Amino acid sequence: MPELPEVETVCRTIRSVVLNKQIASCQVNYPRLLPKNDLDQFVRDIQGRVIVDLKRRGKYIIFDLDSDLQLIVHLRMTGQLLFCPDSNESVTKHTSAILYFTDGSQLRFVDQRKFGTFYLLRPEQWHRVTGLHTLGVEPLAKEFTVEKLKELVKRPRNIKSLLLDQKCIAGLGNIYVDESLFRTGIHPQRQANSLTDTEITKLHVNIIQVLQEAIASQGTTIKDYRTGSGDTGYFQNKLLVYGKAGEPCVNCNQIIEKIRVAGRGTHYCPNCQRWDQECEA
Ligand SMILES: [Zn+2]
Repeated sequence: MPELPEVETVCRTIRSVVLNKQIASCQVNYPRLLPKNDLDQFVRDIQGRVIVDLKRRGKYIIFDLDSDLQLIVHLRMTGQLLFCPDSNESVTKHTSAILYFTDGSQLRFVDQRKFGTFYLLRPEQWHRVTGLHTLGVEPLAKEFTVEKLKELVKRPRNIKSLLLDQKCIAGLGNIYVDESLFRTGIHPQRQANSLTDTEITKLHVNIIQVLQEAIASQGTTIKDYRTGSGDTGYFQNKLLVYGKAGEPCVNCNQIIEKIRVAGRGTHYCPNCQRWDQECEA
């Protein structure tokens, strides 16, 4: 599933090409794309609007339109938002929606698993989208300080599930949580409130660095993720622990293990990320 670096990359790659474009019409091939909007009303309301800004919040992509409405897109599992400068390019079978611009270019939403969602809402209606109005701090914003992370980890729950919780930190997912914890030497099942100040300080730096490095590599393509230009990311070549079960650790040669934490497949090095359960009891 696309996480912060992938969604940020999609925003950056389509921003310059869709900004100030006028939407001539919209075709929705899969009505469940719109869980909160009536299909006909959606098509009527978006027609003629100009995209005046494009930004990311957590894993959501938000298009500001020249009305009081915003088009909010969540890619979910396999969604791809692809800019097509040439309208003659053939439409693939998993295309859920197409925005047609007045200059002949298009923005297509291709989604094999069909979990992706579009919402057309006013900013004061964000509460209608579960998970949007409750998003926690943006980890690349200045508000994400060491003090903020210290405050968040006070809760008695394991660190992996806390970092995955979008209400705590927005945009982190399975890949970047595993990578951040590995870089910091923290076992994913550690209780968050057992972390020392030194560990929290290191974790804070590593979360920011891994996200920045992944954005610089245009994200991680395991399978479906593509940038807004249709390219794969290349951070998958730089992962140290995610997807490496059975391979030797880059630091110590111990074999990387995969376990289940917070309902997610979790990769870690048993030597670099030790967990002394008795100390926590
Ligand atoms: Zn190791």
